[in-house]
Amino acid sequence: MEKIFDGKVALITGGSFGIGRAAAVAFAKKGASVVVADLIEDGEQATLKEITAAGGNAIFVQCDVSKAADVTAMIDRTFNTYGRLDFAFNNAGIEGISAATQECTRENWEKVLAVNLTGVWLCMKHELPHMLRQGKGAIVNCASVAGLIGFPNLPAYVASKHAVIGLTKTAALENAQSGIRINTVCPGVIRTAMIDRITGKDKAVEQRFTDMEPMGRFGEPEEVAEAVVWLCSDAASFITGHALTVDGGWLAS
Ligand code: NAD
Repeated sequence: MEKIFDGKVALITGGSFGIGRAAAVAFAKKGASVVVADLIEDGEQATLKEITAAGGNAIFVQCDVSKAADVTAMIDRTFNTYGRLDFAFNNAGIEGISAATQECTRENWEKVLAVNLTGVWLCMKHELPHMLRQGKGAIVNCASVAGLIGFPNLPAYVASKHAVIGLTKTAALENAQSGIRINTVCPGVIRTAMIDRITGKDKAVEQRFTDMEPMGRFGEPEEVAEAVVWLCSDAASFITGHALTVDGGWLAS
């Protein structure tokens, strides 16, 4: 595999599981040193094990992206360890509790917005100054197809993901001439613990989700990871402020 990211450093939030874990491994396989940040240190440190087994280099940083002090500590640790930051995948997110808009509690609303939206803003706030000093960088924020269309019974999640796309466009415009590109990925239904929680692993519900996907299957975390790696690579050098769907054609229907 071509090590196009040799000597580069990638920071992945929500890197212990799911899409974040797949992205951390994908960046490492391309030669990047990886900072895996997550609320939960995976019991067996599976992400780090997978990266080192593939000959890569990574550290784990415990971080709640909704807390400013945790985010600054995460960035400090990145610099103290690797001395630079080239790529950030601001991926950590939660779905919250399923309930219609009028049933959504204030607690659920604030928690989902704090992680999915404030967390992405805090990460960019502290990533951008370092990238600006370097004069180059690429950020990908994780939105969702739920950032482009409504989704009943997930009002806070849908609002947060729409907002992430708007925030990304704004930051992309601010940095269009600074050498830093900022995009979002918008996954469809991807086989992770988040989808298992939403479907309750109920076969009938899983089938309804499968039926929404024109390709007739769930996406895999690795398929989103490949899109993130590409958006960060120089192959995407004229792409910024874009919301890239990785959804098996869902939004084309
Ligand atoms: P997941 O639940 O498997 O992984 C989410 C990761 O984020 C976990 O490792 C979790 O510990 C971490 N995390 C949660 N809260 C955190 C916090 N406050 N600070 C730091 N880390 C935190 O879910 P996933 O499916 O891999 O989701 C990753 C991203 O993809 C999310 O932003 C999600 O909204 C988005 N997404 C997922 C799907 C899907 O179908 N799975 C679809 C569209 C968008």
